[in-house]
Amino acid sequence: MKGYTPEVAIATEPLFEKIKHLIPAVEWPIIAPLIYKINELKVEKNAVILAHNYQTPDIYHCVADFVGDSLQLAIQAQETEADIIVQAGVYFMAETSKLLSPEKTILIPSLEAGCSLAASINGENVRQLKRKYPGVPVVTYVNTSAEVKAEADICCTSANAIAVVEGLGVERVIMLPDEFLSKNVANLTDVEIIAWRGRCEVHEKFTANELREYRVTSPGVSILAHPECSPEVLEEADFAGSTSSLIRYVNDNRPDKVMMVTECSMSDNVSAEIGPEVEFIRPCNLCPHMKAITLENIAESLELLRYEVTIPEEISVRARRSVQEMINLGVEGRDFEKGEFKDVVIEDEVSLNSMDIPLQKSFS
Ligand code: SF4
Repeated sequence: MKGYTPEVAIATEPLFEKIKHLIPAVEWPIIAPLIYKINELKVEKNAVILAHNYQTPDIYHCVADFVGDSLQLAIQAQETEADIIVQAGVYFMAETSKLLSPEKTILIPSLEAGCSLAASINGENVRQLKRKYPGVPVVTYVNTSAEVKAEADICCTSANAIAVVEGLGVERVIMLPDEFLSKNVANLTDVEIIAWRGRCEVHEKFTANELREYRVTSPGVSILAHPECSPEVLEEADFAGSTSSLIRYVNDNRPDKVMMVTECSMSDNVSAEIGPEVEFIRPCNLCPHMKAITLENIAESLELLRYEVTIPEEISVRARRSVQEMINLGVEGRDFEKGEFKDVVIEDEVSLNSMDIPLQKSFS
């Protein structure tokens, strides 16, 4: 790899300009050669990098070809003509890319990049739920394994969750696996929701009390929350929606002071786009899985073509149908206005195993 040569310095200078208020100047000569190398490797291998909004600014602004939330990245995976996709995100996102672009090589730079929501449920849990609630359609958040998606009728993201649930035209749905997202959807619809006890380990940490304290220490702050936070947190926020909705809100409204109640890097990435005109108050909850992706392992991933994501065909066919059903609905979603708190049935392994669920073959 080249060092911080004049050639590297000149080629990477516009990238440094973009993130210079987020990365100390002394670090740039260390990371610039890596950025230069990754951008060269992408051309050499006909590869693109899809980066989630929660990636660090060096990845998000300096090597990514496409950035966005899970749904936007899934659609990009389908549309790109590159031979190789490197997923700068977590494993379920790389699986979703593989489902939508089965002929492409999909790489995840670290096998540590999991997700507490995806890990909370498996295919057998969904089959048990379907036996317990026969005929009730299953909506699964994209933050699940391909095995779980294969058991579902349709996927959703936080951007389109309400539209997907209502679009099914039924009175009751099983919505998996995020307890808080399901409760937040339930509060805004007449559709009865049966939820799963899964939580995002980042968003579950935020509390309504903490938000009230920020209002005292930062008067006038606009508080924007992600719907993986609890209903009490959303109630306290000024606006709630998916990561792409939160970004749109800041761009459209340009509040003097804003706090994004979500993963920490989001604020850095939006701040780099918007500049100093908006002050970001950062309650810093980092996702350790997202942070398992680094410039170093992206470069290794491209060089060594590792770690390739594969999905068994019998799972892939059914999981792809669930994701495609969602994409066919379009990306137009609904933000999370204030709703009326409703009771939601929460299932988990304990409640399923304590029931005498008839053993019958279930078909998805
Ligand atoms: S932020 Fe939460 S939902 Fe997103 S990858 Fe991390 S643990 Fe999963």
